[in-house]
Amino acid sequence: MNETDVVIIGAGHNGLTCAAYLADAGMRVKVVERRKVAGGAAVTEEFHPGFRNSVAAYTVSLLNPKVIADLKLTERGLRIVERRAQNFLPAPDGSHLLTGEGRTRASLAGLSERDAGRLDAFYARLEEIADVLRAFVLRAPPNVTEGFGAGALREGLNALIAANILRGLSLQQQRSLLDLFTRSAGEMLDEVFESDLVKALFGFDAIVGNYASPYAAGSAYVMLHHAFGEVNGKKGVWGHAIGGMGAITQAMARAAREAGAEIMCEAGVREVIVDRGRAAGVGLDNGTTIRARYVASCLNPKLLYTRLVPGDALPGDFLARIKHWRNGSGTFRMNVALSSLPSFTARPGGGDHLTAGIIIAPSLGYMDRAFHDARNRGWSREPAIEMLIPSTLDNTLCAPGQHVASLFCQHAAPELPDGRSWDDHREEVADLMISTVDKYAPGFAASVIGRQVLSPLDLERQFGLLGGDIFHGALTLNQLFSARPMLGHADYRGPLKGLYHCGSGAHPGGGVTGAPGHNAARVILRDHRALFRSR
Ligand SMILES: Cc1cc2nc3c(=O)[nH]c(=O)nc-3n(C[C@H](O)[C@H](O)[C@H](O)COP(=O)(O)OP(=O)(O)OC[C@H]3O[C@@H](n4cnc5c(N)ncnc54)[C@H](O)[C@@H]3O)c2cc1C
Repeated sequence: MNETDVVIIGAGHNGLTCAAYLADAGMRVKVVERRKVAGGAAVTEEFHPGFRNSVAAYTVSLLNPKVIADLKLTERGLRIVERRAQNFLPAPDGSHLLTGEGRTRASLAGLSERDAGRLDAFYARLEEIADVLRAFVLRAPPNVTEGFGAGALREGLNALIAANILRGLSLQQQRSLLDLFTRSAGEMLDEVFESDLVKALFGFDAIVGNYASPYAAGSAYVMLHHAFGEVNGKKGVWGHAIGGMGAITQAMARAAREAGAEIMCEAGVREVIVDRGRAAGVGLDNGTTIRARYVASCLNPKLLYTRLVPGDALPGDFLARIKHWRNGSGTFRMNVALSSLPSFTARPGGGDHLTAGIIIAPSLGYMDRAFHDARNRGWSREPAIEMLIPSTLDNTLCAPGQHVASLFCQHAAPELPDGRSWDDHREEVADLMISTVDKYAPGFAASVIGRQVLSPLDLERQFGLLGGDIFHGALTLNQLFSARPMLGHADYRGPLKGLYHCGSGAHPGGGVTGAPGHNAARVILRDHRALFRSR
């Protein structure tokens, strides 16, 4: 039997971040991970002989600068580079939009002078509210408490601080905030712009990991969620980690180990041990038991509470609600090995646009139809895809002259209708994704020499992402901020004493941010110090 101060379930980037902070503060920490490698959904693997790529998450922006600095990720070898152009949106009529520093306005003016004139104001409106989100990212949101104890006092103070952040907003900004939290991205974009491509540019962010139409209420928040990041100090920009997303988690794992944490791979947790109403450790699949004063989980909360924690140890209402935690981002992920770069009809040949996030979804109507088609059939016949070719920025992924591309395909049903299984449809849908890109870049299909295909079911099997949910739970208003993962538990403390949430199912939600891991570590340390003070 092993003993430690903290056992962390799951070596996702948040588990690793939490481990690094706790070990650095002097606690004894063990991280137990089911897979062969640490990193969770942010890993780089060889998917075809001679071709490596990020397996799931593939692009960086949300990773918090404080986490990068505190864990000394740059000193530990992490290098993040900007894309030379941010996004490229080809349209079937041969037009396109190319965005990025110093180019978006001119490119948009070629489509609509009116929209180009409105662009800066729209960005400013989004940025102002993204700044509010940034102010909350590394803070526990106000938590709902019962009674008048010390916890209530602390939360009262926290609510005051939150109110103060919001009080800094003008009335107009507060109205924008309400819009962005409750409305559909489609409605908001239709009010401002006329060009399909610029609406698609922002609208795509509203459906990434969101199995919904861009006209669904609440989709504007998902758009905002993709805007609070930065790369090397530039707000709202997306970039690439040299070596793929695994470079981030390898640097995090190094930080955790060098601070003294132990990371155990191929060590799946079978159960959380409960002793006298407290989480007291974990039992592993291999029969080992690790006793710990604190247990932190970086798993999807529904996975944790319905499969690992004994039901009779949980309050009935909590268990009933967590069973209905909404999962299923409708994501289908592919990596392809390419013999050559694609050439797009809308912009033939090479150029900076091939370093961009290439969005194949030329209008909001296209995305709306894609969602409804997927709802009826399981996937859309005209799917919305973002393609990134990281080898245009990174020569560590494959041999010179060859390339790798990530295809991030939206609107694939978490579960197929009529009891069908993704096991029987995976390859057919992968072919469809490739032929969809080929329509915009003829010859693309012929350049594919290898592929890795992950349906929602595969994402669940490989990474424990229930329903393939990339965020560990939908980013809907009832699952955000003080309600993530549930009202009364937004402070990273679970319903069992000694059990904490340090993964994307906690505030501020999904994405490679490091924020839930950072915030949970702070709470665990606070509780640990309070325990020793009270003795
Ligand atoms: C296809 C896809 C694309 C994405 N693209 C991006 C992107 O480009 N940029 C971005 O910022 N975000 C992206 N995301 C979201 C982001 O990757 C996730 O939100 C984030 O990685 C989650 O990190 P985490 O540490 O909270 O959990 P995870 O990374 O999910 O880690 C949880 C870990 O727990 C382990 N585990 C599960 N069950 C057990 C068990 N019983 N015992 C022990 N260990 C267990 C898992 O194996 C896993 O390693 C993407 C996600 C996916 C799936």
